[in-house]
Amino acid sequence: MKEKLEIKDIVQLKKQHPCGSKEFEIMRTGADFRIKCLKCEKQIWLARTVLEKRIKKIVKSEEK
Ligand SMILES: [Zn+2]
Repeated sequence: MKEKLEIKDIVQLKKQHPCGSKEFEIMRTGADFRIKCLKCEKQIWLARTVLEKRIKKIVKSEEK
C-alpha cells in the first residue's frame, strides 16, 4: 500500500463492516485515520498502519 491517502478518498476494505458495506470515506488523516462507513455512516478510528493493511483498493480519489 504505497498510495497516498487523502481526506474524502473512498476506500474499499478487505473485510466488510457489520452493516454489509466495504466502502469507507476517509474523514481524517495522520498517525490515526478516521473513516466513515458509506452505508451506515458509523465512524471508526484506525491507526494508519492498520488501515493500510486492511485496504483492498482506493475506489475514488478527489481531483486535485
Ligand atoms: Zn457500516
